[in-house]
Amino acid sequence: MKKYFDAKYKELPIGGLIEEAGNAEKYVTGTWGTFKPVFNAEICIQCFFCWVYCPDSSILVKDGKVVDIDYVHCKGCAICSTECPTKPEKAIVMVKK
Ligand code: SF4
Ligand code: SF4
Repeated sequence: MKKYFDAKYKELPIGGLIEEAGNAEKYVTGTWGTFKPVFNAEICIQCFFCWVYCPDSSILVKDGKVVDIDYVHCKGCAICSTECPTKPEKAIVMVKK
């Protein structure tokens, strides 16, 4: 039996290997999500919670202000919208793609 599993294991294709840290920006991951965040600058209070929590560095900042979303790398995880503190409306809302 062990022999059988050893043989099957060798037939498996080699999976993705991460050979260097911080290489996420080299990959287009923006097509992965079903939802995307939409930023509303008029409501934003510039607290930077979204920027701190985004796991893909997809919150775009210019001249010290959050200005937009990097849709090339955003995976649509919704953490930015969840953490956005503005009320009653959030400055980042998730919409279906
Ligand atoms: S949805 Fe996720 S990946 Fe996209 S900007 Fe928000 S926190 Fe970042
Ligand atoms: S978390 Fe919301 S209010 Fe804070 S900077 Fe991001 S979009 Fe603006």
